[in-house]
Amino acid sequence: MTSLPVLPLSPDPPGRRPALPPRHLADLDLAGRQALVAELGEPAFRARQLSTHYFGRLVRDPARMTDLPAATRERLAGSLMPRLLTPVRELACDDGATRKALWRLHDGSLVESVLMGYPDRVTVCISSQAGCGMACPFCATGQAGLTRNLSTAEIVDQAVYLAGVAASGAVSGSPPRLSHVVFMGMGEPLANYSRVVDAVRRLCAPAPEGLGLSQRHVTVSTVGLVPAMRRLAGEGLSVTLALSLHAPDDELRDELVPVNQRWKVAEVLDAAWDYASRTGRRVSVEYAMIRDVNDQPWRADLLGRLLAGRLAHVNLIPLNPTPGSRWDASPKPVEREFVRRLREAGVSTTVRDTRGREIDGACGQLAASETGSADGR
Ligand code: SF4
Repeated sequence: MTSLPVLPLSPDPPGRRPALPPRHLADLDLAGRQALVAELGEPAFRARQLSTHYFGRLVRDPARMTDLPAATRERLAGSLMPRLLTPVRELACDDGATRKALWRLHDGSLVESVLMGYPDRVTVCISSQAGCGMACPFCATGQAGLTRNLSTAEIVDQAVYLAGVAASGAVSGSPPRLSHVVFMGMGEPLANYSRVVDAVRRLCAPAPEGLGLSQRHVTVSTVGLVPAMRRLAGEGLSVTLALSLHAPDDELRDELVPVNQRWKVAEVLDAAWDYASRTGRRVSVEYAMIRDVNDQPWRADLLGRLLAGRLAHVNLIPLNPTPGSRWDASPKPVEREFVRRLREAGVSTTVRDTRGREIDGACGQLAASETGSADGR
C-alpha cells in the first residue's frame, strides 16, 4: 500500500517553512491595494491605475504606465508588481496553437502553464502548487512530491502573463482574448484551498479588480478531497468542478489515486453530486485511459452505472506516458469501446484532445525534464 499523501486543507506542507514570494497586487482585492498604496504615501487612486495596467491592459512594464508620474512609477510597480515568474523555457507546437511555459519562482521552484488556442476560445492551464503531494503513480509531477503551495498572485500571474501572450496574437487561429482557465497544471488545487479560491475570485472579478473571466469558464480539478469539495460547493461560485476519478472501483483507485485510501469512490462521488446540486454545474469526471490498467469493458460498465442519471460528463484522457514509465495509453479501439459503453449507459462522454504532446504536455513533464527527474527513478 502506498502511504497517504500530505493532509489536504493544510495551508502549507507540514514541517516546512515555505519561502513566501513577495506580496503582489494580485494577492489583494482592490480595497487592500488601495490601503497598501496609501501606506506608501500615494493617493489611493494609484491602486486603480496600477490594477488597470495589470489586469485591464496586461501591461507590467512601468515605462509603459505613462499615466503615473515618472518619479513614482518604478517605486509603486516595484512594491505592488514584483516579478513573480521568470520564464525558463517557452515552447510552441500544434502549429503555434499550443504554447507551454516553464517558470522559475523566486525561490527556484519550477512550475508550468499551457496556453491553448482554439477557433472559438483561448484556454490557459495553470499550476496551483510547485510539485504535488498526491503521489499518483502515473504522473510526472506526483513522482517528485510537493515543494510548496503557490501564492494567490503566483497562480493569477500565470494566467495574466499568458493572456498577454494571447493578446499579442501569438496563438495562431484563435481569438486574442483569454476566455477560459483550467486548474489542471501541477498540484492538487484543493490542497491549496484558500489561495486557489482567492485566485478564482481575482480571475473572475471585472477589471480593474481582476481579469474579468466568466466563472463558468473556469474549471477547478481535484483528485477528490471530500471536505474541500463540500466547502467549494458553498463558496457561491459557479466554476466547473473536474473530478479526477481514473477508476470506478476502490481496489484500483487506491493504487492510481492514493488519496482514495482516505476517501473512497462512493464518498467522492457523493461530494461531486452535492457540488452539482448546490451549484447547478455539471461535474466533469476525468478518466485517464491507461492500457490494461483501467480500460477494461467491465470498468466502463461500472463507471456507466455509477454516473447514469447524474449531472456529469466524462472526459477520457489518452494517457501521455512519461519517459521510462510502465504506464501507457490505451489503444484506440479499446478507447472507442469504452466510450461506446459509457454512451450506451446514457453518460455524456468525450475524449480530450492531446494538446502539447510533443512539448512534454502532460502535467509536470516539462519541469521534470528541466530537472532531470521525469520518470520517478
Ligand atoms: S495527477 Fe494531479 S493530483 Fe495526481 S500527482 Fe499528478 S498533479 Fe498531483
